[in-house]
Amino acid sequence: MKPDPSGPAGPTVTLVGAGPGDPELLTLKAVKALRRATVALVDDLVGAGVLRYLRRSARIVHVGKRGGCASTPQAFIHKMMIAEALRGECVLRIKGGDPFVFGRGAEEVEALRAAGIEVEVIGGLTAGIAGPAAVGISVTDRRCAPGVALVTGHARDGGSGPDWAALVQSRLTLVVYMGVARVDAVVQALLDAGMAASTPAAVVSAATTAAQRHAVCTLGTLAAVVRQQALASPAVLVVGDVAAAGAALGAIDGPGGQLQVA
Ligand code: SAH
Repeated sequence: MKPDPSGPAGPTVTLVGAGPGDPELLTLKAVKALRRATVALVDDLVGAGVLRYLRRSARIVHVGKRGGCASTPQAFIHKMMIAEALRGECVLRIKGGDPFVFGRGAEEVEALRAAGIEVEVIGGLTAGIAGPAAVGISVTDRRCAPGVALVTGHARDGGSGPDWAALVQSRLTLVVYMGVARVDAVVQALLDAGMAASTPAAVVSAATTAAQRHAVCTLGTLAAVVRQQALASPAVLVVGDVAAAGAALGAIDGPGGQLQVA
């Protein structure tokens, strides 16, 4: 099927953020893009409830990297998007959360533009903000912090992780993506950088999905809580006073039930 004439002209790829999980958190613009796509390249954090908005005839290509399966190499994803767009397909590249927040969106835009393909980017709600919000935590609560830093707990191959000492100094709320698997190392780095073990912390797992669970604790107990409560990936860690302020509000939790750990 050829692209919908109401869609963008010329070979185009639309890069879409699917939000953290709940399909109702898709933007209207994302839904429109889903409806007109003929080919969709889908990351693994994008659930079936979101893909429901695709046409039945759309070809779905899963290019995710989870579950211990071999990942689709990034270069192959670039090639596939370029080839499909040049064939006249209406290509949708859909990723969990926001495509530009730990989503390799920038690399994909660069590769597509280098191939002469136009890219439309549709932002999504990022898990590091929408996840804490789903349990009542405001990551920029001005009574607690001057702002927020979104960081990864998973250092890029061969690269170093964030400058934890500088982050502790900044007093920003820290939201750590991809952090549960390395929670011990993240906690140790923050303690080594001088952060108090009593600093409030929270974990939100599978935020805004039916499997959502969270815990509110302290930096000192964070690693043990993650393990004891089996708070698995995908999950974000929140470190800073906002975690306790949110807990005090009372949890606004998903259908998965609530869990509070002192
Ligand atoms: N682009 C995405 C992030 C991709 S990196 C976004 O903007 O949200 C993958 C990481 O995102 C996971 O390891 C986890 O830290 C976080 N994440 C994604 N979905 C999540 C969810 N529903 N609940 C909690 N964390 C989530």
